[in-house]
Amino acid sequence: MASEFDLIARHFTRPAPNAVLGVGDDAALLAPTPGAELVVSSDMLVAGRHFFVEDDPQALGHKALAVNLSDLAAMGAVPRWATLALALPEPDEAWLAAFSRGFFALAERFNVSLVGGDTTRGPLNLCVTILGEAPAGRALRRGGARVGDEIWVSGELGAAALALQHLSGRVSLDPVDAGLCRGRLHRPEPRIGLGSMLCCVAHAAIDLSDGLLADLGHVLAASGVGAEVEFGRLPAHPVLVPRLDEPLFRTCVLAGGDDYELCFTAPPERERAIHAIAQSAGVPVCRIGRVTVAPGLRLLDSDGREMPVTERGFDHFA
Ligand code: ADP
Ligand code: MG
Repeated sequence: MASEFDLIARHFTRPAPNAVLGVGDDAALLAPTPGAELVVSSDMLVAGRHFFVEDDPQALGHKALAVNLSDLAAMGAVPRWATLALALPEPDEAWLAAFSRGFFALAERFNVSLVGGDTTRGPLNLCVTILGEAPAGRALRRGGARVGDEIWVSGELGAAALALQHLSGRVSLDPVDAGLCRGRLHRPEPRIGLGSMLCCVAHAAIDLSDGLLADLGHVLAASGVGAEVEFGRLPAHPVLVPRLDEPLFRTCVLAGGDDYELCFTAPPERERAIHAIAQSAGVPVCRIGRVTVAPGLRLLDSDGREMPVTERGFDHFA
């Protein structure tokens, strides 16, 4: 049977052009760009909680890195290095080969070097730490939203949550729609280009991992402001659009997790700059509301009337 070191050598040792020293020693050596701040984040995927043991390992390799890249996108940072800590029930070579294919395909697209990690036996658990850089003092924080800012969202909302509803049998989708939604759940696209270009344009940003209402709520709380959001402006994924009057579909848009789109605020005069950035990043963006002095999040219907908000985002301990 392959040793731990054979597994690391075969599946997780690749040239690490961004590092002074990568996998193989007691620690990696990195040389950050002078004048940049290091931006660091970890995200763990736990079998049975974030994914199913039988999920496609190549998609898991993609997602384990993608959710971390998404956090860096939300900070306006450029990713450069990652570490990978794995707990595996058994050394399954085919599983590891597929997992590392998914992981490295995404890492190469975003010029991220895997520089270390840990491999141990245990219940299946995948933890990535991502390191990147932002110009000193310019990273996007949750606390930067100001009264009068417009609130923007990238991409489309709700499809990943709808995939989970479909998988758990609470809703039935036709095969084409189910496939589209599953793609969004298993292969989220981190908005790195958009986030890094918004660095000098937006006031605050967050990535949508737990649902729009919850995540925008974090921005509002950190910034000490409130917001009005127009339901009719929310960019629901096309699969959801025809059924938005159904509570389950509405909840996917408002409180569904796993979209990994960016939500950000910026002053109204930046609108043209934001559209130009979105175009060059190749990601649609849309304005969904504005930041207010009045605290709390008010959801408005197309007549400007307040809609009751009962949906909450995902919380592991609630
Ligand atoms: P140590 O015992 O000194 O902590 P390990 O034996 O755990 O080192 O790891 C040996 C080398 O392999 C280290 O450079 C470590 O960062 C790297 N490594 C271990 N597991 C992984 C992994 N899953 N992905 C990438 N690198 C890994
Ligand atoms: Mg050591």
